[in-house]
Amino acid sequence: MTPLVDTHCHLADPKLRADADAIVERARVVGVRWMVSVGAIGTIETDRATVAIAERYPDVFAAVGVHPHDASGADAHRFDELRELARSPRVVAIGETGLDFHYLHSPREAQEAALRRHLELAAELDRPIVIHCRAAEARMVEIVRESAMPPRGGVIHCFTGDAAAAREFLALGFYISFSGILTFKNAAALRAAARVVPGDRALVETDSPYLAPEPYRGRVNEPAFVARTLEVLARVRETALATLAGEIAENAARLFRVPAA
Ligand SMILES: [Zn+2]
Ligand SMILES: [Zn+2]
Repeated sequence: MTPLVDTHCHLADPKLRADADAIVERARVVGVRWMVSVGAIGTIETDRATVAIAERYPDVFAAVGVHPHDASGADAHRFDELRELARSPRVVAIGETGLDFHYLHSPREAQEAALRRHLELAAELDRPIVIHCRAAEARMVEIVRESAMPPRGGVIHCFTGDAAAAREFLALGFYISFSGILTFKNAAALRAAARVVPGDRALVETDSPYLAPEPYRGRVNEPAFVARTLEVLARVRETALATLAGEIAENAARLFRVPAA
């Protein structure tokens, strides 16, 4: 079976949480070896629930942080709580953090301040950083340059930029992760960007419950659907599916320091 890794999902989301047993099982059935469940959205309770889920399944790991939408609430106390949660060996990354200038649910200044603190926290805790970046690629590059990349590196999750933005992030040392958006009809620029990412720096993810790939678009997304995004990525890059799957599984294991199954 093709080895799959879903490097970004939200199993503590209310749409998935109650069904976690069945969702994890369906992922295993299609070959998902492991997944990274990201807290970060909403309050610290989401991060706590995410770590608890990761402690329940051997093939689920956690990332903890504050989503840029919620950056206004990212005070010193919240970072202390994240530091405490990250003591669990199940926490393999810090995030998602970043900049979302498309929705601007939190003001830019709050997003930028929270991003800088996450970069510091990732360095302090020796974990990679998970970055969310929407309509803010140039500013993201500036801030990471000023603050310095955490020694363990990081990933631009759900990458939606063009080839030029991908090259800038690659130069900083980031991995680039593709979500179901890659399969959408109107994503030609993104597919062009997917061709410039070297095989040793590409990742795939679902970002479930959001962004289900075609032909499931509009449905509640889940880690099992990562297979679909991988298929499209292989087609776009004109590589054999098995080769790409193997590379991506290795990349994910290297970045998150999860031993290859
Ligand atoms: Zn995100
Ligand atoms: Zn996410």
